[in-house]
Amino acid sequence: MSYRSISYWFDSLDSEPVPRAPLPGDLEVDVAIVGGGFTGVWTAYYLKRADPDCRVALLEADTLGFGASGRSGGWCWASVAGLSHHFERDPEKGAALRQAIATTIDEVGAVCAAEGIEADYCKGGGLTFTSNPAQAERVRANVDAHRKLGWSEEDVHWLEPAEVREHIRVASCHGGMFAAQAARVHPAKLARGVGAAAEKRGAQIYERTRVARVEPGRVHTANGVVRAHRIVLGLAGYLSQLPSHERDAIPAYNHMIATEPLSCETWERIGLARGEGFGDASRFIIYAQRTADDRIAIGGRGLRYFYGSAIDPRFERNPGTDRLLQKALREAIPELGEVAITHRWGGAFGISRDMIASVNLDPATGIASAGGYVGDGVAASNLAARTLSDLLLDRKSALVELPWVGHQSPRWEPEPLRWLGVRMGTAINASADTIENRTGRRARLHERALRLLGAHLEY
Ligand SMILES: Cc1cc2nc3c(=O)[nH]c(=O)nc-3n(C[C@H](O)[C@H](O)[C@H](O)COP(=O)(O)OP(=O)(O)OC[C@H]3O[C@@H](n4cnc5c(N)ncnc54)[C@H](O)[C@@H]3O)c2cc1C
Repeated sequence: MSYRSISYWFDSLDSEPVPRAPLPGDLEVDVAIVGGGFTGVWTAYYLKRADPDCRVALLEADTLGFGASGRSGGWCWASVAGLSHHFERDPEKGAALRQAIATTIDEVGAVCAAEGIEADYCKGGGLTFTSNPAQAERVRANVDAHRKLGWSEEDVHWLEPAEVREHIRVASCHGGMFAAQAARVHPAKLARGVGAAAEKRGAQIYERTRVARVEPGRVHTANGVVRAHRIVLGLAGYLSQLPSHERDAIPAYNHMIATEPLSCETWERIGLARGEGFGDASRFIIYAQRTADDRIAIGGRGLRYFYGSAIDPRFERNPGTDRLLQKALREAIPELGEVAITHRWGGAFGISRDMIASVNLDPATGIASAGGYVGDGVAASNLAARTLSDLLLDRKSALVELPWVGHQSPRWEPEPLRWLGVRMGTAINASADTIENRTGRRARLHERALRLLGAHLEY
């Protein structure tokens, strides 16, 4: 298999990705990191930057960025799954987390600039448009909720329909929301570039090295055992495949497509001149970006979960969702006309049972983890990694006081309840979208049902 087929992002890397050598045998380090996605590579990078003497090894089953990170929409935006939960419990701590994620967008840009990582970083903000009155009502409520969480008017504000069209000429629009703290990135270049920067600082990276089992002080692979005082699990949805972590997170599939490059004239008609990310306010949202080579990469419109938390390359293609994404694009931007779709792909992100992201280090076992970002992991993984670095190096920083540190999500239900619950959640969301599109009124009964189920499975 060519790595280029993983996603548009892998296909547009400057050269064919060649994985590094696997772990050659037993090894002893200070910190062993399992997983070479954003969580893993950023953690390796910040550890080596903070303490060049710290011996760090990263073990990746395939190649850096192979998981959700190299398949994502590349929206790096200031959002953390569970932020409102922390605000409700402790407004001061919630505000600290909001501030920390807000500054993360510039942090990602600053590291790219400092390390020469060419990841097409462009801080153009993010735009959510609405296409019926029910969506508009929900987005207005969302803007108010942001204000209550302390976001300034400059950070997040409501846009009247004409203001939305100043950003993007969408067909039918009932207003929208603009979030200034958002950048678009080329996610595969970012993941692989940060990994290379960590390696330059002395981190050892082993690819094609699948971890079979983790126990305190030891990481077991087919090639050897890595002994480490501290172990980091950066596995997102793949965590469910590791023995004794089967119910810690579920892998939920999302799909994307990319168009051919659009002409300058087309872009003049569409907008997005500042490189804004954009999405809609459906429950099964779409999220999209104008890529550096002038395509539209768009994803969403439904989340798929497979019985028993199965992960399989066959799940990465989904013609049904591809068609929905094409339809969404055509309806939102009729100006596009018949545009060729050149890439189709999918990947799984990790969802914790309460949909709250967390960062943890168990001092008794020395095992740390970060994840549960749902669809907000591009920025959140950077903040998580800086936090992990301080925790692992025992540094008393403001980051280790953030309220997502130490948060314990409940475990998912055993099967078949897990599968049934997710199926019900996604079915209710799909039906709510249909009703809101048809009537223009909010599907409040569905909202109540989702709350009862404890699931807001959007995307
Ligand atoms: C289609 C899609 C679109 C998305 N769009 C966005 C977006 O626009 N913005 C946003 O913020 N978030 C988005 N996300 C979510 C985001 O991509 C993730 O939250 C984030 O990338 C998670 O990073 P991670 O490093 O924790 O996990 P991953 O990137 O999944 O990395 C885990 C790594 O572990 C490796 N691995 C698995 N098992 C083992 C093992 N046993 N041993 C060793 N290594 C192993 C995998 O190969 C993988 O490379 C999207 C996700 C998907 C799937």
